[in-house]
Amino acid sequence: MIAVLKRGTTAEQTDHLIRWLKTMNLDVHVSSGQEVTVLGLVGDTSRVDMELLTSLEIVDSVKRVSEPFKQANRKFHPNDSIIEAGNVKIGGGFFAMIAGPCSVESSEQIIGIANEVKEGGADVLRGGAFKPRTSPYAFQGLKEQGLKLLLEAKKVSGLPIITEIMNVRSLALFEEVDIIQVGARNMQNFDLLQELGKTKKPILLKRGLANTLQELLMSAEYIMSEGNENIILCERGIRTYETYTRNTLDLSAVPVLHELTHLPVVVDPSHATGRAQLVPSMALAAAACGADGIMVEVHNNPSCALCDGAQSITPAQFTQLAHAVKRVREAIQ
Ligand code: PEP
Ligand code: MN
Repeated sequence: MIAVLKRGTTAEQTDHLIRWLKTMNLDVHVSSGQEVTVLGLVGDTSRVDMELLTSLEIVDSVKRVSEPFKQANRKFHPNDSIIEAGNVKIGGGFFAMIAGPCSVESSEQIIGIANEVKEGGADVLRGGAFKPRTSPYAFQGLKEQGLKLLLEAKKVSGLPIITEIMNVRSLALFEEVDIIQVGARNMQNFDLLQELGKTKKPILLKRGLANTLQELLMSAEYIMSEGNENIILCERGIRTYETYTRNTLDLSAVPVLHELTHLPVVVDPSHATGRAQLVPSMALAAAACGADGIMVEVHNNPSCALCDGAQSITPAQFTQLAHAVKRVREAIQ
């Protein structure tokens, strides 16, 4: 349920109303915009007398929110959320270029790529240490050692870092990680989502291979319901009958999510297409349809990459892409 307050309502009147609502065992989320203040009521709202609430002098309107996602809902929070990671902001007009290899492979590799993508226009460095692989015999990532190397690359380049968590047990290792990624395969690992909800870390939540946008938002709600509102959503392609590309990039997810939620939306054209030559055009399309950022896999030697070489672009291609993305963003503003 949401209650929109009238213009000119004082902080004291708002506090008074919130205190009263809390006596009904409700959580109250306050969204103060330039125009109006919106109170989002979470919990068992069946006991709230809507007519009584509407009749209060400071209340403009009261509505029930029919969607099952509440805190992620734009109705609860009309303004775009801006997520801060290190010195980088994402959402609400702030755009981030996230770049780096699929996996951290060695100190030279990750530090070399970090410096090159920084030079080329990256805002955040990506690199997997714990890798979710379809085959148990494939390279599984350097794990703790990979995280150490990534932290070293963060120090050397000054870029904030994003890396994927696979399970709750390794959470303590992620203390100095700026953004924790929940991969497509873990989008509905509800235990993991709840534990991440107890932290204040920015979480990049990827859409599952066969999940609807509502399911993605319900997963975000799992994190938010535990108190962590720092979520970035990521469209990374979904599985369809098309096999020419690794997945099918659902770009309509960007405007749809922007309509439904205040959370920023980033697009990953690398995992969406699986082919390096398709990455730049899909990245530009993502920027054109209003994405809040792009995450691309970049490798200094794609043909020798231990993971996802076929979809990795080179640092030089990344630099070109970053310039082109900037031009597209200027064109749509
Ligand atoms: C990744 O970003 O390295 C990754 C494994 O992506 P996804 O979860 O989208 O497959
Ligand atoms: Mn990958």
